[in-house]
Amino acid sequence: MNSKTAVLVIDMLNDFLYGKLKCERCQRIIPDVKKMIDRAHKKNLPVVYVCDRHIKTDREFGKWPPHAIEGTEGAEIIDELKPRKGDYVVPKRRYSGFFETSLDLLLRELDVNEIILSGILTDICVLHTAADAFFRGYRISIPRECTEALSDRAKDYAFKFMEEMYGANIVSLDELL
Ligand code: ZN
Repeated sequence: MNSKTAVLVIDMLNDFLYGKLKCERCQRIIPDVKKMIDRAHKKNLPVVYVCDRHIKTDREFGKWPPHAIEGTEGAEIIDELKPRKGDYVVPKRRYSGFFETSLDLLLRELDVNEIILSGILTDICVLHTAADAFFRGYRISIPRECTEALSDRAKDYAFKFMEEMYGANIVSLDELL
């Protein structure tokens, strides 16, 4: 079957790991996400960083404290996972990596029909990106150890939901890459 896979790394930004909206338990996935990115590079799979990048007056700040404001350190990808030459960075202003962004256009240009989702949070930006990916016909896999939520309960719920609603393939990284 003619299928091309891309790896998406969602919101691994200073503000979410170390800054304004710090999620300490999310820090533990960093080594596995790095391992995943290294394996993707080795296999010449496209690596796409999907990153919150808000304007100062973003309406999302009616719901969340201001974070990942464009041009600030907080909006930068964490040092441990800095993109390499040839990687892609797609900014977003909402939970879904597809909403009003160039992600779909990019993936289609790369002939991608299967995506591997990683990053944070499993039940917010990963889940909403999975929804939009499903609507657009992409197949979805998620390495369990490469995403995190604010609680085990939230993570388990999101996995089950994405499995049931979007047919997401929830597996270990070793099974995938
Ligand atoms: Zn945001």
